[in-house]
Amino acid sequence: MVDAGKELVIVSLYPREMNMYGDQGNVIALQRRIRLQGYQPKTVVVNPGDPLPADADIFLGGGGQDSGQLKVAADLQLKSEVLRGLADDGVPMLMICGLYQLFGHRFLTVGGDDMRGIGVLDVETRGGDTRMIGNIVLESDEFGEIIGYENHSGNTVLGDGCEPFGRVKQGAGNNPDDGHEGARFKNVIGTYLHGALLPKNPAVSDFLIATAAKRKYGEFEPREIDDSVIAAARQSARNRPR
Ligand code: GLN
Repeated sequence: MVDAGKELVIVSLYPREMNMYGDQGNVIALQRRIRLQGYQPKTVVVNPGDPLPADADIFLGGGGQDSGQLKVAADLQLKSEVLRGLADDGVPMLMICGLYQLFGHRFLTVGGDDMRGIGVLDVETRGGDTRMIGNIVLESDEFGEIIGYENHSGNTVLGDGCEPFGRVKQGAGNNPDDGHEGARFKNVIGTYLHGALLPKNPAVSDFLIATAAKRKYGEFEPREIDDSVIAAARQSARNRPR
């Protein structure tokens, strides 16, 4: 049963410009999972020019084309200090692909644009000539196997200030060379995985919810949730060729 008093506020960042391969599915999946875990989801959409709500519990952001990233980069700069402060305080955030890149220090596109990021994640990205496209599987000590789909030209390299989100089992990840995928700083996750990610990876949803609930209400008691349909979807996604 949902306790209507226990609300968790999701902030969906720039869904107009940053919504590739159904990244909005992350918002829908998280809303549902929040209900299944006994909380009441409230979603606040933040478009360029909108203020950030003061009561945000979880931030979600998607991917986009280089041109879409250019449209949001300046607005993101205006919010950078607040977002860095919240990240430092342990607020959970999940940023996919285009916004993952902009949560880093810098994204130099293949077209020659030099986009400043907000430096929440100690990563830097450089556009390359080869796109990294296809189904991707990661391994993570915290989340187990993570399954998704990647399509990016950006090559991302991690600095010392963050850990990878996962190790690549199949696919490219941050770049073709180091076997790392995504980045993690405190409770902020950046990753190239579309899919959408959360419908197929409930362990990541539960991490976002547990972190947010503990910060806000001081505790989190996970519920028994029947994930058999998700397990079947994961199995079928895992068996797809690259
Ligand atoms: N435009 C970026 C790149 O190609 C991000 C792409 C995405 O979000 N899928 O690297």
